[in-house]
Amino acid sequence: MRNPILVLGAGIAGLGAAYKLSGNNQQVIVLEKDETYGGLCGNFTIEGFRFDRFVHFSFAKDEEVNDIFAKGSPEIYRHKPNPFNLYHGLWIKHPAQNNLFPLPKEEKEKIIADFRNRPNADSLIVDDYEQWLRLQYGNYFAEHFPMVYTRKYWMTKAADLETHWVGNRLYQPSLDEVIRGAQTADTPVTYYSKEMRYPLKGGYKQYLSALVDGLDIHYNEEVMAISTLNKTLCTASGMKYSYSRLISSLPLPMVVNMLTDVPEEVLSAAKKLRCTCGYQISIALRTKNIPPYLWWYIYDEDILPARVYSPSLKSLDNAPEGCSSFQLEIYCNKDDYTNEELIRRSVDKFIELGLIHEEDILFIDVRFEKYANVIFDHNIYESRKIVRDYLSSIGIETIGRFGKWGYLWSDQSLMSGLSLK
Ligand SMILES: Cc1cc2nc3c(=O)[nH]c(=O)nc-3n(C[C@H](O)[C@H](O)[C@H](O)COP(=O)(O)OP(=O)(O)OC[C@H]3O[C@@H](n4cnc5c(N)ncnc54)[C@H](O)[C@@H]3O)c2cc1C
Repeated sequence: MRNPILVLGAGIAGLGAAYKLSGNNQQVIVLEKDETYGGLCGNFTIEGFRFDRFVHFSFAKDEEVNDIFAKGSPEIYRHKPNPFNLYHGLWIKHPAQNNLFPLPKEEKEKIIADFRNRPNADSLIVDDYEQWLRLQYGNYFAEHFPMVYTRKYWMTKAADLETHWVGNRLYQPSLDEVIRGAQTADTPVTYYSKEMRYPLKGGYKQYLSALVDGLDIHYNEEVMAISTLNKTLCTASGMKYSYSRLISSLPLPMVVNMLTDVPEEVLSAAKKLRCTCGYQISIALRTKNIPPYLWWYIYDEDILPARVYSPSLKSLDNAPEGCSSFQLEIYCNKDDYTNEELIRRSVDKFIELGLIHEEDILFIDVRFEKYANVIFDHNIYESRKIVRDYLSSIGIETIGRFGKWGYLWSDQSLMSGLSLK
């Protein structure tokens, strides 16, 4: 009998690959280090409160993806996106650049003056994200909003990022829109997605449930070493697997570390691939009295979280009756802060601002994610090409956010698995 196809990782990309390749008289085995499937699309539950692993909504357009999601969760919420920003204690509608209304008069004038005086974008070559921001929004806004946010969310300076990833992610208003947004709170929603979908029950992971039926997933199997010469790999439990084909959704640098005799150029390229990591601070509250925003961004650097969302506003199924919840996203290296510092500079700040009351807190959970967003620094395209070409040359096919090493949403990660032949 032929050796099986091995798929590494039971996140949405690995499940998509196994779903697609199973059933052609070919055995497919998925190896997953955790005790359940889902990866970043997964969740955890504590005392009846469910928390996703970071904010997750679906805005998938692809028909096959939407069919799979609909099989997993026929009933869904359709949220209209209307996020907010917290800036110096003020709530500003998102995106802030065309919703300046709550700001003090002098600050609005500075932003508008700098917006008016920004150089003509067509006449300049933009080398980095900081330059892009200054050109789009003028210096004052760039320095006080997105450049601060970049340090908090991307863990790096805007000047260290390139710009191809931006796409339609940042709204680029006209001068008239900026002026209008400074005069009135009554502005249209300009968020890039018109609808954010979420399962009625079961958290975001519910969308993946139609993928797993009938799949052969081996849980608690952490892949440690791969020999492409012998077409075998070893796991932490001591198991050895042979394969006919190897598909990996694991982070590229991790896979390179599992190999021997890797050329120096590939090792060096893999070391240059950077991604963000960070803490999820999940808070359970015995009240429903919380800010009404599904998710919001924080532009103050003394408050550590870059972004906050409410699982209980995403779905009533995420919290017990009469209760609510938050999850705070803090991007930093593991052990940059102790858990006490993380809480002092996030939850305690929220209490000071009156956003939550200490007596309402049922529990706070702190956990770390090692792989969040790929960082689009100036090395990314060259380095990831070297690594991906090398892995392909030794017969390792890569899929998913960390196998493609890109800014893939869950639907795109799934499609990268489904597209295998
Ligand atoms: C902050 C944040 C917010 C996001 N918000 C959204 C959103 O709103 N909407 C959206 O569509 N997408 C969103 N995404 C993107 C989405 O999470 C990813 O595209 C998707 O989950 C990636 O799936 P994957 O299968 O490629 O990777 P992963 O989910 O990382 O799966 C990889 C799997 O491999 C396993 N693994 C790792 N190492 C080993 C090993 N050595 N051996 C065996 N198994 C191993 C892991 O446990 C994991 O299960 C967000 C991502 C982040 C970080």
